[in-house]
Amino acid sequence: MGYKITFDADKCVGCGQCVDICPVSVWEMDGDKSNPVNEEECLGCDSCTGVCEHDAITIEED
Ligand code: SF4
Ligand code: SF4
Repeated sequence: MGYKITFDADKCVGCGQCVDICPVSVWEMDGDKSNPVNEEECLGCDSCTGVCEHDAITIEED
């Protein structure tokens, strides 16, 4: 079972906290936004959703 990441770039302010906290490097900065580049590695830990203060990230079981 994997996880589906929904990312709303309009809400992202580019703080980079999701990049810093993800234990498996799912997120990378792309200009002034983050971007999920390794979605298949996601563990579903919800660390990124917890740290994002702008509700830009949703993680669901896939
Ligand atoms: S924590 Fe949220 S606002 Fe910050 S870079 Fe990640 S998605 Fe964007
Ligand atoms: S839920 Fe956890 S493993 Fe998945 S992208 Fe967010 S921080 Fe990374």
